[in-house]
Amino acid sequence: MSEIKDEIILRGLKEHNLRNVDLNIPKEKIIVFTGLSGSGKSSVVFDTLARESRRQMILNYPHYVRYQMPRYERPDADLMQNLSPVVVVEQRLIGGNSRSTVGTYMDINPLIRLLFSRIGKPSIGTASDFLSQSSFGRCPECSGFGEVIAPDLNKMIDYDKSLRDYAVKFKPLSPSGWQGNWMMTCGLFDPDKPIKDYPEEKRRLLLYGPPEGEKVNAPFHTKNGPQKHDWDGLLPRFTRLYINRDISKLKGVTQDDVIAVSTRSLCPTCQGSGLNPKVLACRINGLNIAAYDQLELTELLEELKKIKDPLGEYIALQAIPHIKQLVEMGLGYLSLSRKMGTLSGGEAQRVKIARHLGSSLNNITYIFDEPSAGLHPEEVDLLIQMLKRIKAQHNTVIVIEHNLSVIKVADEIIEMGPGAGVNGGEVVYQGKLQGLKDSPTATALNHKLKINKNPRDIKDYFTINRVSNNNLKNISVNIPKNVLVSMCGVSGSGKSSLMLEAFTKRYPETIMVGQGGIGISNRSTLATYMGIMDDIRAIFSKETGQPAGLFSFNTSGACSICKGKGVLTPDVAFADPVTIPCEACGGTRYSDEALSYRYQDKNIVEILDLTIDEAIHYFKIPKIIKRVQTLKDVGLGYLTLGQTTSSLSGGETQRLKLASHLQKEGQIYLLDEPSLGLHTEDNEKLLDVFQNLVNRGNSVIIIEHNLNFIAASDWVIELGPGGGKQGGQIILEGTPEEMLHAETLTAKWLKDGVR
Ligand code: ADP
Ligand code: ADP
Ligand code: ZN
Ligand code: ZN
Repeated sequence: MSEIKDEIILRGLKEHNLRNVDLNIPKEKIIVFTGLSGSGKSSVVFDTLARESRRQMILNYPHYVRYQMPRYERPDADLMQNLSPVVVVEQRLIGGNSRSTVGTYMDINPLIRLLFSRIGKPSIGTASDFLSQSSFGRCPECSGFGEVIAPDLNKMIDYDKSLRDYAVKFKPLSPSGWQGNWMMTCGLFDPDKPIKDYPEEKRRLLLYGPPEGEKVNAPFHTKNGPQKHDWDGLLPRFTRLYINRDISKLKGVTQDDVIAVSTRSLCPTCQGSGLNPKVLACRINGLNIAAYDQLELTELLEELKKIKDPLGEYIALQAIPHIKQLVEMGLGYLSLSRKMGTLSGGEAQRVKIARHLGSSLNNITYIFDEPSAGLHPEEVDLLIQMLKRIKAQHNTVIVIEHNLSVIKVADEIIEMGPGAGVNGGEVVYQGKLQGLKDSPTATALNHKLKINKNPRDIKDYFTINRVSNNNLKNISVNIPKNVLVSMCGVSGSGKSSLMLEAFTKRYPETIMVGQGGIGISNRSTLATYMGIMDDIRAIFSKETGQPAGLFSFNTSGACSICKGKGVLTPDVAFADPVTIPCEACGGTRYSDEALSYRYQDKNIVEILDLTIDEAIHYFKIPKIIKRVQTLKDVGLGYLTLGQTTSSLSGGETQRLKLASHLQKEGQIYLLDEPSLGLHTEDNEKLLDVFQNLVNRGNSVIIIEHNLNFIAASDWVIELGPGGGKQGGQIILEGTPEEMLHAETLTAKWLKDGVR
């Protein structure tokens, strides 16, 4: 009996492509799910295990609370037992514009505020008075935003133009508004003379108004004759009417109009902290709370250790372990104030994990989705230590991973397969590393790196001169054209700063394949995403004489019962949500009329059910064949034309994006970690795609940690030596073969891989 409790029991799993999968997952172990992209890993881990655990957790709450919580549908499975609460650590986090900082995300800031409120000298009040959003704590000048907006004459005035020609680019002060007309007719200013030709004194009067203490009359003409009016100067007027005032109540001016002729700058009163001078006067050992926020974490740790007051020491001791955690993960150079959205992928990944390590809960199932993403092989070792620590705190660690180092440390490996999509959905192996054979993962583990011994000749370069955005140290670099280039280096070394910012700014024609998703509309399918659907509808229309819209489930072809959704979701209060296939159309989303027409013996639904592999032979139209072939090239031959893009696995999405970019004939392709979500075997296919692109004369540059890609490149550029401040330099440029004689971190791992 007690033995059963130590395992999560799953029987008859059928979500997506799963074929009646049975699994026993041991608790308090590290379990790695691996297998080709699309084999069914997420369907087991996220769509069955995590969803059922969350669903059952919610069942523990009373109805009236449950009503406000997310509702989860019961996964398609016969039995799911012995689950524990799950914590999912997602792969990519938090949108780039998120306001959260390292300090808020790690929950360290409340402790720091408490500390200042108790032992800061002079202390001013309660912990919440140290918040820039509080009525006491906010800076009076910038209202807590930390930034002020100041008018910028160079943006507001076109000195080559006259007033009548709209020299003033801010609409309410231009001839479009009464104020602009007043300026032209008051007799002080020549409305037809370019501003640059005004004598110095006139120009100063126009822009800044009369000298202090003087008054200048600028009559305002009404139908009752001129009225006396003082001229105050464009700049003072603009500041008084549009900056020092809540303009949201004015008509015809928006915040954006004002910002367009202004510059934002750091608030001079609070230096960007958003805090009141009284709050900033409160110090501990000479430092105020804004300084604490800006300190590098290593320095912050030292400051906290200096605190000897017993109450202060007690509070500091609460914060220290969290900060230590970050420092130990190599993030000591960050500060509490750093915005989460500006962290590099690998940095963000580690902050997320650190947050969970600080937790004292146990008997949790932690689920990590490819935690090695964005990490250099060297950093993967750190990651593994952390996973082991989470397990040691009596938790179950489930990891979806392709990284071989992580696979090697698993207590138990579960490989899904044998293929992807309809060819997958089974457990092909469960057990220890030693027993793994005859599978894609076994092959990958035995695979030795193949160094490219015949790199292509380099004839020309893209040149980037002296860049210093983010951590880059004023570097210049030549990136070879028309070959395959890998850009590598530890996380935070500056790869994205160099390529995604500096390079794309200089070479805007670059086709960027980044990491974002592709939208979650469940009306978008492979066929619509690739632009094939329009051609298919056109064929049907031509063949049948019916309007093309009849062959779309988004318009007139939609089933009238489900409105083209294919499913119905009856909303029963308090009950679990259920989705049932629409009986009227049998889930096809189409109306009977649309289905009654055929092209080459198939109706529209039968065509959308074709796999990519089948579609290549079915269609005779070159334009369609070309697009379908691109999908096959990136290894998606097993998907159907009609599969929704929202249902694709991460690795499939990544490749679909690539395919859609491949059909635009570009010349420079830049890819951010294309191996993400892909198994070693998938990577080989992708590499072929890149080689073909280069053979056709394109330049392909990839940001990658994966050694298979690096070894196969024609040229490698490594940034480093460390992350953050310690990075930002080019530490290696050369062929993979030359790397075998180099001493950098990546070179070390490459040498290891060929042994
Ligand atoms: P993995 O995590 O191994 O990459 P997934 O479990 O995400 O794979 O997906 C397994 C297969 O099931 C993929 O081919 C995917 O396209 C397919 N799939 C996922 N969701 C749906 C769905 N709602 N409808 C149809 N197919 C789906
Ligand atoms: P990589 O791509 O090599 O992982 P990045 O180029 O993303 O590294 O980041 C290089 C360094 O610059 C990192 O320490 C990162 O935190 C920092 N950085 C990136 N963006 C910003 C930003 N907007 N503000 C401040 N620092 C940044
Ligand atoms: Zn301020
Ligand atoms: Zn229907």
